[in-house]
Amino acid sequence: MDLRAIVASLADCPCGRVHDVAIDDVQIDRGLVHHVGEILEKNNFPKQILLVADNNTLPASEGILPALEKCGYHYTLRMYDNLRVADMEDVDSIAAQLKDFEGVLSVGSGSLNDICRLAALKADVPFAIFATAPSMDGFASSTSPITVDNFKRSYPARQPSVIIADTDVLAAAPGYLKAAGFGDVIGKFTAIVDWRISNLITDEYICDRVVSLVRDTVRKVASHADRIQQNDPVAAGELMEALILTGIGMTFAGSTRPASGAEHIVSHFWEIMKLANGEISDFHGKKVGIGTVITTRIYHELAKLESVSAAPYALDWEKIEAAYGEGFMEQVHIENNPAITDRLDAKRIEDNWAQICKIIEEELPSDAELLDMMHTAGAATTPEEADVFGQLRDDGVRYSGYMRDRFTLLRIVPMLGLEDLMHV
Ligand SMILES: [Zn+2]
Ligand SMILES: [Zn+2]
Repeated sequence: MDLRAIVASLADCPCGRVHDVAIDDVQIDRGLVHHVGEILEKNNFPKQILLVADNNTLPASEGILPALEKCGYHYTLRMYDNLRVADMEDVDSIAAQLKDFEGVLSVGSGSLNDICRLAALKADVPFAIFATAPSMDGFASSTSPITVDNFKRSYPARQPSVIIADTDVLAAAPGYLKAAGFGDVIGKFTAIVDWRISNLITDEYICDRVVSLVRDTVRKVASHADRIQQNDPVAAGELMEALILTGIGMTFAGSTRPASGAEHIVSHFWEIMKLANGEISDFHGKKVGIGTVITTRIYHELAKLESVSAAPYALDWEKIEAAYGEGFMEQVHIENNPAITDRLDAKRIEDNWAQICKIIEEELPSDAELLDMMHTAGAATTPEEADVFGQLRDDGVRYSGYMRDRFTLLRIVPMLGLEDLMHV
């Protein structure tokens, strides 16, 4: 992936925004585990590093230690058993240890990268990633979702200066991690729909070139769904590229719109509710894929309607509190004061309905196509597969929107008097 060529292709963008990114280099190719030292050195990454990994990710990256040594890298290993939750205690502990180092290299994906990303900012040292599984879209991110007292919050963190992905290592990653990454990529279908419709109805900023960049990379991954479960370096590389590129798309756009729409909010709702209950939820991308199937189905139902009548509606606080529980209500009130649905121009939704339907039809695969590609990729399609059942499952669809002050098509369904469409 030629990051500089992508940045160059976005020069003088008609959207008026300067699209640049602080990441120096992204390398995705076969056999790169043996060249990690050279790539870091070429990008002037400092030589005294803390290497953070776990007992799955370091063995999966066989050859990385000699590759560092031969280029004069001095590393100290900090090993976890099997890190599933990114906790602030770990962040602070790594940040303290980093006082003795010039940089941090995270060998892994998901939570491991998230704790190092924030620790790097706190200790003010550069950060690099050697990715071991194409499982989620956070690699290029400049924020870290971190858990404090069973609450997950997103913290500004340090974007990696170098991302290295060996496609042989990625292809050999467990099938469930690759399937989760596929689900996260597929979520960009509905994210783009929400972004385009928000631009249409609220004049929210949009960049057509960033939309195209994300759409193209997502469609490429979708067209190779049959190769996700195989030990196929090409398909694993494309999946990784899509995950990194959609992450960089957020930096280009200055918002999470290119990567995240209603499907992510549904997934986050399930996650925070489980967390509040002391449960670790299933992989991010797996839940996002499931949220995408549900959201896509509802959006297609909407697109069947020739016209709608829209009106602001009174939020049913009793039901919202029943869904969230007392602990979250302060935040929910902040996000809805006043609610996005009270600030929307209902007439504009009615007048632009044909265009809204057109965007849905242009961007989204049919329900059958989506299910087919998800099944082929080994990805989950029902909440039950992520241990999300009954009330929690239904509340995620109906009430997740209230945790963000954000336009999504799912959020405005009650304005249309069509709540009956909001089901799994
Ligand atoms: Zn632009
Ligand atoms: Zn995601």
